[in-house]
Amino acid sequence: MNIVEVEQRHTSGLYSKQSIAIVRGRGASLFDSEGNEYIDCSSGHGVANLGHAHPKVAAAIAEQATRLITLFETFPNDRRAELMQLLTSLTPGLSRVFFCNSGAEANEAAIKFARISTGRKGIVAAMRSFHGRTFGALSATWNKKYREPFEPLVPEFSHVPFNNVEALDRAVGEKTAAVLLEVVQGEGGVYPADPAYLQAARCICSERGALLIIDEVQSGFGRTGKMFAYQHHDIVPDMVCVAKSLAGGVPMGAVLIGQAVRNLAPGLHGSTFGGNPFACAAAVAALTAILEEDLPRQAAEKGVYLLEKIRSIRSPLVREVRGLGLMVGIELKRKVAPYLKALLERRVIALNAGLTTLRLLPPLVITYDQLDQVVAALAEVLQSEITSTVEEFGL
Ligand SMILES: *Cc1c(COP(=O)(O)O)cnc(C)c1O
Repeated sequence: MNIVEVEQRHTSGLYSKQSIAIVRGRGASLFDSEGNEYIDCSSGHGVANLGHAHPKVAAAIAEQATRLITLFETFPNDRRAELMQLLTSLTPGLSRVFFCNSGAEANEAAIKFARISTGRKGIVAAMRSFHGRTFGALSATWNKKYREPFEPLVPEFSHVPFNNVEALDRAVGEKTAAVLLEVVQGEGGVYPADPAYLQAARCICSERGALLIIDEVQSGFGRTGKMFAYQHHDIVPDMVCVAKSLAGGVPMGAVLIGQAVRNLAPGLHGSTFGGNPFACAAAVAALTAILEEDLPRQAAEKGVYLLEKIRSIRSPLVREVRGLGLMVGIELKRKVAPYLKALLERRVIALNAGLTTLRLLPPLVITYDQLDQVVAALAEVLQSEITSTVEEFGL
């Protein structure tokens, strides 16, 4: 079977496909069907914080598959109870949890919880935000390219400039159910929030009876150098949405819920697969490994190392280097697609964030040797003249 050809023939059309089939992974490495090795600086958009094929996650999955895969949340379960304890122990002040299956679903749920809790309708999100592609989450997302083809969206959503306290102050009023923010805007270009901004957001929400929802779908689980990125900022949100890396690569999302969120009653919301023992077992193993290997600290140290190395690359193409931990953006003065292709030719898989920002989200277990190889590849492509023949690279 020619894997690439078969996928080309049957694809929905929604993804612009690479011409390399990836069949295996280990740590921060991926391998194609011919056995070539790549350094993964995408982590599947921030899913594989623990790297690929982590032995402890694999063992937990295999063991749980022989015990119990599915169980609706009305019946308590050993793995789910364990996960509830472990997850909420990482988020002081947020002691309840709703399980679902993706980032969009987590944000969707948080938006519904905010409306039901406050009796208000307004949701204030930020420009450049990304919260997912279901209708509620999409209504909170900023990019016109994702939104406009599907209008009309959900009413009563508005967007304010990120990191602008005055604009937020003006936008939040007595009709606002919630403010929904990322701590480091990921898809929007890797923009970290100012500490003063999140603290002001916390005050404004508390003062006016609105809830503060933090979307940690990409920034969570050690990625930025803390278990959750909001923990850099000394605030306690009312809800925290997580997904991507939560269950070590098995699909899972969750909303962590604080005391200010009220009126959640049986039947109001739910999910068939949410909180299934299989995903819960994977998540318990993943979180345990993240803690045992102290991946938040590793991400902090490797992030400082990587940012410094990237900043020392002398290239007229680079406009700005931004990042927190191992969530790194290199904003170019050109479109990023040809540079991603050139990196792939040097066996480094990287991402874009918008049209001109090159984004690196390596597994937090990446080695220093691999980081050096990534920097060497970056230096090569950013210092050579690459003629822009590639128009599409999934962008
Ligand atoms: C990826 C992402 C989402 C959407 O997650 P899905 O699992 O693809 O639905 C939401 N918010 C942020 C910040 C993300 O990075």
